[in-house]
Amino acid sequence: MMGNTSEPDPCEGNPDCQQALAELYSFLDGELTVQKRTVIRTHLDLCSPCGDRYTFETELRQVVSMRCQEKVPDALRARIAAALQAELER
Ligand SMILES: [Zn+2]
Repeated sequence: MMGNTSEPDPCEGNPDCQQALAELYSFLDGELTVQKRTVIRTHLDLCSPCGDRYTFETELRQVVSMRCQEKVPDALRARIAAALQAELER
């Protein structure tokens, strides 16, 4: 992705970050083994950009789970998902 270069992403090219972000959703869904969870949890504690993404994702899920009982339009959820995907692929 082109664009804003004033804020270099410290996670760029870091295999630990790539792994943590790749498994973030599984982590949130509780689909990982205890061992893997520990690895990712540790990384999230040590790496603030990844920790921030984790926090953002957690809060987003809380909002969505509170609201989806009511009516979150699919279009909005798709937009959020796309925005997150773009963020992860940056
Ligand atoms: Zn990281």
